[in-house]
Amino acid sequence: MTQQIHFNDYKGDTMKFLETKTNFNKLKIFLLVLVIVSSIVNIGLNFYLKNKESTQSSLKRMKTITQDMKSQKEDNITYYYPKDLEIIKYLKTFISRDENESSEYFGKTYKYPLSIIIFDSSNSFGKTLNVNPKSVMSEYNTNDKAIYLSIETLAPYLLAHEYTHYKMDSFCIDKKIDIFKIPLWFQEGVSEYVSSAFYNKYKGKSLQEIQNFKKLDSNKELVESFEKGHDVYFQSYLAIKKIIEVKGEGAIQDILINTKSMNFYNAFEKVVGLRIEDFQKMLK
Ligand SMILES: [Zn+2]
Repeated sequence: MTQQIHFNDYKGDTMKFLETKTNFNKLKIFLLVLVIVSSIVNIGLNFYLKNKESTQSSLKRMKTITQDMKSQKEDNITYYYPKDLEIIKYLKTFISRDENESSEYFGKTYKYPLSIIIFDSSNSFGKTLNVNPKSVMSEYNTNDKAIYLSIETLAPYLLAHEYTHYKMDSFCIDKKIDIFKIPLWFQEGVSEYVSSAFYNKYKGKSLQEIQNFKKLDSNKELVESFEKGHDVYFQSYLAIKKIIEVKGEGAIQDILINTKSMNFYNAFEKVVGLRIEDFQKMLK
């Protein structure tokens, strides 16, 4: 009896001890979850603030750049240029051609306000945008919705390339897709592919080596790789060409739409039927 009581007491103590331990574990898990959740919220908030800040600073920069320029507005597009340029007349024709061509892939999109800013030299273009004008000749900025060009290097296919960035951006806003989830190589590939309808600089060219697509996700990675001599724009162009050959033009929209609910590379695999690592082996 005594023993049993003793045993029960002992058992009770063990249970109590276990219970306390469980509660302690629960508390630990709760605290851990709390830390994780607050970190995620914090990261999300930082990302949001960073984006918001860069949108504000991009818009501020654009205002400074264009304040002494002449301007012309037509529909949703405002053209800014340093002096009277005959070329504005032609740009308008090119724009309607680019809108038609890019609509082949993205369909009708809402016409968000777009600024087209032309610099009088490649030097001032590079200096103002903080890029090397030898490797970057034009730019589209999603934060201020502006295409930046230089009169010295202006070519219709460059405008088509940048306009396609704007078109993809508009498509993503319409469909509530976060464009920052789309790897840069994919965006550049589509722009290169659409503009190749007007001037195919890659005709007859073959790819010498392949960089891992997953290492070309950000603007920094892509530009750095390009400046090291890797033909990553051509590689991205070939990827888009291949996707369209195998799965049709609709695949571009399908990949973007699937990225709404999953990681880009999962969306890619779902639509193309191959992992990016296996797909890239087909390009050479
Ligand atoms: Zn581009």
